[in-house]
Amino acid sequence: MTNHLAAIIRSDGIILGESLASQHAIHEEFGGVVPGLAKTAHEENIDKVIQSALQNANMSIEDVDAIGVTVGPGLEICLRVGCYKGRELAMKYDKPFVGVHHLEAHILMARLPPEKHDESITKQLTGDGIQSSYRAMEFPFLALLVSGGHCQILKCLGIGKYTIVGGTLDDSLGEAFDKTARLLGLPVGGGGGPAIEALAKDGDPKSVTLPIPMQQRKDCDFSYAGLKTSVRLAAERICAERGVERPDELPHQDKANIAASFQHIAFRHVEIRLGRAMELVQREDGIRTLAVVGGVAANKELRRRLNALCSDRDTPWEMSVPPPRLCTDQGAMSAWAAVERLMVGSSDSAEDQEVFARYPFSVSYIDGS
Ligand code: ATP
Ligand code: FE
Repeated sequence: MTNHLAAIIRSDGIILGESLASQHAIHEEFGGVVPGLAKTAHEENIDKVIQSALQNANMSIEDVDAIGVTVGPGLEICLRVGCYKGRELAMKYDKPFVGVHHLEAHILMARLPPEKHDESITKQLTGDGIQSSYRAMEFPFLALLVSGGHCQILKCLGIGKYTIVGGTLDDSLGEAFDKTARLLGLPVGGGGGPAIEALAKDGDPKSVTLPIPMQQRKDCDFSYAGLKTSVRLAAERICAERGVERPDELPHQDKANIAASFQHIAFRHVEIRLGRAMELVQREDGIRTLAVVGGVAANKELRRRLNALCSDRDTPWEMSVPPPRLCTDQGAMSAWAAVERLMVGSSDSAEDQEVFARYPFSVSYIDGS
């Protein structure tokens, strides 16, 4: 959540204009997110990003019907810059205002009507071979949210109505990818996931033995901290065999084997926990549709495996996963979440809107608070 993102979307799901200003370069230089720098960069870029999204859409701010802005969870000082700008514009131009929950925005990407996507998105849809499994989800459905900061299974009952079926006890799946990428000295700008995915293609997923997390616990929760340690210990063992000091100095094939083995077990853990949740909600609620959302949902191997998990069941499930570029953070997700809220008659007061570093669904606008 260190990018500046803006988009103009129509209520039928057509993305009219988008823009993005990345801060990766700044943070890379300092080896991580520096809150002070993130805030300054946000302030400098916010007007430019909004202007450029409007320009792409060939519109002016007066033409926009409503304004949505992410208010949490995330880095508070960055959220505040966006929130204040959104509030200012909504009040100045007298527009309805929606304070968007970032996780709800990830989930609602699974409801963006696919046939309405712009041309570049349609190309991606046909490019990754899973276009047939993308359709706009109707409530109720089960969602697997796998992102940089979250790893959750949720029952999605309606706009603003989510029940958590499982969560992580420690790290998220995206974090596990990022830490493994860092261990192997891979580029982590924008997240280490894509680098691990690419490297894993050259490796043997069975070559490094790693334990599947939480085998004893028969619930739907996740844990990735133990796997991270196992990967590090395995990498150190291989380093000793090869006579090198650090994992990033290992030959390509060793690194690829570590990446492939990590990815395999990380996804095995997802299959087991998610499979259990699917059984549960099918039995209790008759739900048989799954949305896979969040940055890690861009991973082709995960998409392939979960597609199989859904179709290989006694009663097959339907799966929907947004095109890869709509899985990671982008402006259209906040804009679309605002559309969805407005369509059910829900909005917020621009004047009073706060931001929330932590913003669990249970305390969000959802409960009427
Ligand atoms: P959150 O949404 O939880 O607040 P975030 O907004 O930082 O966190 P996202 O942008 O949704 O996270 O997702 C980024 C995460 O997705 C990173 O951890 C990144 O490594 C991971 N990711 C992106 N592409 C891939 C991929 N192809 N394979 C695996 N992981 C990926
Ligand atoms: Fe996100």
